[in-house]
Formats: sequence, structure tokens, C-alpha cells
Amino acid sequence: MTIATDQMKISVPNSAKLHESINDLIPGGVNSPFRSFHEVGGHALFIERGEGSKVYDVDGNSYIDYVGAWGPAILGHAPHSVVEACMEAIKKGAVFGTPHRLEWEFAKKITDTVASIEQIRFVNSGTEAVMSAIRLARGYTGKDKIVMFEGCYHGHSDSTLATSAHASSAGVPADFAKNALLVEFNKLDSLENCLQKENGKIAAVIIEPVAGSMGLVAPQPGYLTGVRELCSRYDVVLIFDEVLTGFRVAYGGAQALYNVKPDLTCYGKALGGGMPIGAYGGKAEIMQRLSPNGDVYQAGTFSGNPVTMAGGIAVLEGLSQPGIYDILERQTKRLFDGLQAALDEVGSKHKKLPVQLQRVGSMFGILFASSPVTNFKDSQSIDQNLFAAFFHELLSLGVMLPPTAVDAACVSAAHSDEDIDATVSSCLEAFTRISN
Ligand code: PMP
Repeated sequence: MTIATDQMKISVPNSAKLHESINDLIPGGVNSPFRSFHEVGGHALFIERGEGSKVYDVDGNSYIDYVGAWGPAILGHAPHSVVEACMEAIKKGAVFGTPHRLEWEFAKKITDTVASIEQIRFVNSGTEAVMSAIRLARGYTGKDKIVMFEGCYHGHSDSTLATSAHASSAGVPADFAKNALLVEFNKLDSLENCLQKENGKIAAVIIEPVAGSMGLVAPQPGYLTGVRELCSRYDVVLIFDEVLTGFRVAYGGAQALYNVKPDLTCYGKALGGGMPIGAYGGKAEIMQRLSPNGDVYQAGTFSGNPVTMAGGIAVLEGLSQPGIYDILERQTKRLFDGLQAALDEVGSKHKKLPVQLQRVGSMFGILFASSPVTNFKDSQSIDQNLFAAFFHELLSLGVMLPPTAVDAACVSAAHSDEDIDATVSSCLEAFTRISN
């Protein structure tokens, strides 16, 4: 396979060479598809190291980073306290396959923080957390069907890739789709109709409280409370997938921000500060159904491993410092105020760009659509080509966004005023170039 270099606006010969040769060894040259830049064109950048708000590639370029490792880098890259904690832990042995004190310490911190989490289990990824929570809800209720929302992403397990509309991957048995129903996000009547029609057959409703993979889509006022009420009325388990939002939009996650208590919650990403992590927890009555106490099986050689636990504890210590969420909010607002001013300036001189700026806390989207994106249908109008052009211009100016038109970008606590102001200047230049 030859790597397409024509879209690239920067000279990155070492990345190009690496991507070309790794393609022979790893399909697409990547271990997770979006890293390949297949949606924006060009080829993946090989990042050598990260520090604070910046990442550095193998060609010696630096970028102000808003990928944030797709969520985990909430304190920035390689935060000292997390690195030190992980180094201390690994010196004592990376994994034992036995319980250890750090699991207790981490579990205590989370259960003390999040009111809905009475008990928790640690796993290794967001996918594992969601897969296990769905199995638990099915085991607990004795029912098979789950309800998901169009455009929400819940990882790559068979259960969550299959929906009543389609299996979004080959290799997922069609039978899986019979047990997964799809409704519209931000439309309560869509959920209510489904719960009414399938009354008595549904184990769980699973939702991203803030959707991060169809543009950054906030729940409309009262929507999550309405979802909660419907799940209670129809006696189904409500699962919040807070893999992205957990410890990101607020210390207590989206459930604290919107004051809604789910029955089960899934975590990942920011909770581990860069170490591979997933977790799920909730009502003790449900969690007690897990093996060995109960009859729902879930296990893992690396689950709860000491290095990840140490990293996670250090992250939560960092995030519980006074003012961290104020910094995240202030910097993201500074960015958005600057972006709006840049768009206004470009609009007054050239053509007005169809851009929606959408954010919740430090999660944001620069969405190339002419009206606000509130659900999956709206997200279909996002202009992928215009985003790709913007993405590459911005990259050439030293700012890195996720290489997809719809996935959430993230500000970290390490982004300084200078970073934000430099980003705004680069965006002004990139907006200008794509509107000419
Ligand atoms: N749920 C949500 C909301 C996510 O954003 C993701 C990852 N993008 C996952 C689940 C899956 O997490 P992981 O990639 O760690 O398996």
C-alpha cells in the first residue's frame, strides 16, 4: 500500500516512511482505525513524546494537542505526579493476579466521590466496562434486550456494534441485532415509544449523557431527567456510559453536572490518566450479582493492575485539587470566545463558514454544519471535506485536532493562555485559508 501524502500540508517524511513500512505488519498501520487519518486523508503522524499540552512527532514538529489521547490526557501529557506514581508501582511488580491495597484505595476514592457508585469493578478499557455492564444488567433483570441511542458510541463489543438497524461491522452475528434497539438521542418520545412497545423485555437503556462521537452533543435541558424517569417507570436498568465524560465534564462526571443518578456507570479514559483502564459500578444490589458472589461472570488477568491503579489514584488526586475544573472551563471558554471572534472576522471579509461551536466543559467540537447538531440525524449534515481541509491547515500551523469531523476534542488542565491564544490565531488563519 502506498501512503497518500497529497493532503498533507506539512513535510513529515519520517512519519510517512514509518506509516508506509508499518502497513506491512499492522493492518492499516494502526491499532485503532481512526489513527490512520482515513477520514481526513493523508497519513498518520507518529508521535514520539508528549509533555503538558503538546505532542512531538518523529520529524521534530510540535503540536498543541486537542486529541488528548481521545480523552485520557486531562492533566496534559506525562503529568509528573502520575508518572512518578506509576514508576513507583511498576518497580514493585507490574501485576500479581491477586488483590492489593491500591485497588481498595482507588475504589474508595471513586465511591466516596460519585453518589451512584456503591460498588465498582476495574477492567482494562471502556469497551470492556460497557460490555460487562450490559452483561450484568441482562443477568440482573433476566432480560436480553438493550436500548441504545443513534449516534452514541459504546466501544467495539459485539453487543454494542449490533443494533436493530444494522450491525456496524462485519463479523457481528445478525442475531445480536435482535436484542439491541435503537432510539433517537434528545427525543424522549422516541425512548418512551420503544419502552412501551417492548415493555417487559428490556434489560437496560445505555446512553452517553453527553454524546461525543456524533459531534459534541449536549443533552437538552431536562432530557436526562426524563430518561431516568422513563427507566424507573418501565423498570429497566439505566446505564450511563461516562467513558468520555467521567471525571472530565465535572469531578463527579455528567451525572453530577446534570444531577441524574443512573443505576450503573461505565468509566475509562480520563480515570486512568493514560494507563489502560475501564471501570463499571453502581448499585450494590446489582453489582453483587457479579461472580464470585453472584452468577454473572467477568474476569481479567490485568484488571485492577497496580500500575493502572497507582496512575488512577494520582489522576484523581490531581483532579481534586481546588480549581482544576475552573481552569478547564476557563480555558475552553477562552478558546471558544476566540474561535467565535475568528469566525466572525472571517465571515465579515470572506464567505461565512458553516461552523457550529459546541461544548460541554472541556469537551468540544468544531462542527462544520449550518445549524446546531442535536442528534445523529443532524450530524449527517456535517461537511467532512471542509473539516478535512481545516484539519490539515490547522495541523500545518501546529495544532492537532482529532482526525475526524465528529469526535470530541479535549482541552487539558495543562493548556496555558499562550496555548489557547496561539490556537485561536492558527484557527483564524486556517478558517481564512479554507474560505478563500
Ligand atoms: N464509550 C464511549 C462513550 C467512548 O467514547 C469510548 C471510546 N471512544 C468507548 C466507550 C470505548 O472505550 P475504549 O476505546 O477504551 O475501549
